[in-house]
Amino acid sequence: MTSNYASLGIRPVINANATLTKLGGSLMSIEAREAMQTAAHQHVDLHELQQKVGKRIASLTKNEAAYVSTGAAAGLLLATAACITGKDESLKYVFPNLDGLKNEVIVQKMHRNTYDYAVIEIGAKLIEIGNEDGTSPDDLQEAITDKTAAIFWFQGVMNQPSELALTTVIEIANKSNIPVIVDAAAQLPPVSNLWKFTKMGASLAVFSGGKDLAGPQASGLVLGKKELIETIRMHGAPNHSVGRPMKVGKEEMMGLLAAVERYINLDHAARSSLFEERVSFWNNGLNKIKGISAERDFPNEAGQPEPRTIVHLGEHFDKDDIVEKLFAGEPCISVAASETTNAILLNPMTVQEGEAEIVLNRLIEILT
Ligand SMILES: *Cc1c(COP(=O)(O)O)cnc(C)c1O
Repeated sequence: MTSNYASLGIRPVINANATLTKLGGSLMSIEAREAMQTAAHQHVDLHELQQKVGKRIASLTKNEAAYVSTGAAAGLLLATAACITGKDESLKYVFPNLDGLKNEVIVQKMHRNTYDYAVIEIGAKLIEIGNEDGTSPDDLQEAITDKTAAIFWFQGVMNQPSELALTTVIEIANKSNIPVIVDAAAQLPPVSNLWKFTKMGASLAVFSGGKDLAGPQASGLVLGKKELIETIRMHGAPNHSVGRPMKVGKEEMMGLLAAVERYINLDHAARSSLFEERVSFWNNGLNKIKGISAERDFPNEAGQPEPRTIVHLGEHFDKDDIVEKLFAGEPCISVAASETTNAILLNPMTVQEGEAEIVLNRLIEILT
């Protein structure tokens, strides 16, 4: 084989970090791989496929409708586009010049993050409300105008008790008939999040197919209101509109459908037990090293209800140094540095069978 990673001189990475896109996200499930393989062998009508895959995924996830995008970021972009234009076909080519249209998207200042560029890049204006310390219902009420296309909600670690709660946001949005879009890209597990936000009244919830769903790396899922999903389809490939450069292949659609089916039927409790075992294994091994203390940390960096190991490095080691050493060493291992203290974090969700041992052994080598 001349088309494998080794032939390019690329080292495999042991991922004890997270489903980071820069490391290739998650590893695809066998179910998704087989579905992509089968899909690649047959021509189909792509409009029909997107519609029928959407219908099946909607029913599996207890939603009105669903759309397969090339990733959660593309899903956010298309969701915004749909909220701006509505079903008006004549507005397909309007981007990014949105003068005279509803072109404002409201977001809490505390929710700003690197992914919200997906909203701005099609010409929408982000209207920030509140500040780093909190947001009030009045802040939201006063920001709503006849220019408001949508309200964005980012679910994740940035959520703070002082922010405006999703239930309050939805309540206020409903009064003015404004859609709420939830970025839940990394909010699996728990599997119930696939329906939780839309059942709460959010118009759309967006998930990554290439994170814990273990679907195609270049896939994402937009779930929610039928009318908005139909408008997203209008803007998406193979139609020529703002979503055409983010084309979704038949392989991604069938792969993501298989991944969702698998994920719904997974034994999530057994998976959590396995993660707990890995964390205990790491903690026991690492606590034998003088000057090092390891403990269970919960929930993890994305706010998912799964444990990870936090390794406190004491005075003699520096977290960034250790992260670099692990990545440069043999084998190449990726872990995260804590943002708040001199510690590194080990994630049991992304390591494969047999890799937890390798990670522990490398750490013992480096830290003793
Ligand atoms: C990962 C992530 C995204 C992007 O997901 P992709 O499927 O890689 O496009 C968007 N928002 C948040 C909060 C994420 O964590």
